[in-house]
Amino acid sequence: AAPEPAARPGLLGRLFAGTEADAPRREMDDAMLESLEDVLIQADMGVDTALRVSANIAEGRFGKKISAPELRRALAGEVTRIMTPVARPLPLYPSKPQVVLVVGVNGSGKTTTIGKLASQFKAAGKSVVIAAGDTFRAAAVEQLQVWGSRAGVPVLTAPEGSDPASLAFDAFTRARAEGADLLMIDTAGRLQNRADLMEELAKIVRTLRKIDPTAPHNTLLVLDATTGQNAVAQVEIFRKIADVSGLVMTKLDGTAKGGVLVSLADKFGLPIHAIGVGEQIDDLAPFDPEDFARALVG
Ligand code: GDP
Repeated sequence: AAPEPAARPGLLGRLFAGTEADAPRREMDDAMLESLEDVLIQADMGVDTALRVSANIAEGRFGKKISAPELRRALAGEVTRIMTPVARPLPLYPSKPQVVLVVGVNGSGKTTTIGKLASQFKAAGKSVVIAAGDTFRAAAVEQLQVWGSRAGVPVLTAPEGSDPASLAFDAFTRARAEGADLLMIDTAGRLQNRADLMEELAKIVRTLRKIDPTAPHNTLLVLDATTGQNAVAQVEIFRKIADVSGLVMTKLDGTAKGGVLVSLADKFGLPIHAIGVGEQIDDLAPFDPEDFARALVG
């Protein structure tokens, strides 16, 4: 029996499996286009985006022969083109403090991301205050205190079960009196009762605006890359309950390559401020479209 052809690495390996090494070109026909669509859907890009990306790649190439490296380059180029406009660091405002509200479901990495961001801003010479606004989860408050001490940043807390808006008000007042550059506010991530969460976040925002009508200056939604296409639903929900201004995608250090980010960029166009690449304090990186595309395409 003939030996099994060696699997080609990367997302597109399957499309070229079995082709001769010295004749690795395949005609871009309907079957190949369909396989490409399937591969992109399996990579979490979502149906709409997968079809659009495939169609863009097929344009001008349909009926012609294409090699694996050519297709890989075309796909990486297409992904980079979609992602480049959304790769933007957290915008900084002169307000003292700039208020960053951090939202997302429990477990997405909010606490960790706040700790990492606090550490980065501290290292950049900014003074930072954190407010532990998930007052109903004692574990979340404790975890945030751990991150605060790692980053060397004060974490303001309130008694368990107390009003997060009142904590936000106190934290804002104190951060302002101290001339802090940045106030980061953690929030609850209970989506079980969406109406309650919406009211809680709205109340925090109303309260902050009593002090500064331009606050919060950023509303960061933290998403977990390992949840795949679920992240799309989370953006849809959180955009309804908060004025989301940008995204952080965590857990891109694991097996998840974050294909969902392509569909998020394609659908919503929200800036991606940073990505989480591990559990340590320095494991937060700027979002780089070319690196991302290369890692995704393989
Ligand atoms: P929260 O409930 O949204 O505040 O989530 P946490 O910040 O507590 O994070 C939930 C879990 O995800 C923790 O075990 C974190 O260590 C882990 N985590 C957060 N960000 C990352 C990341 O970028 N990479 C990895 N591998 N784990 C992460």
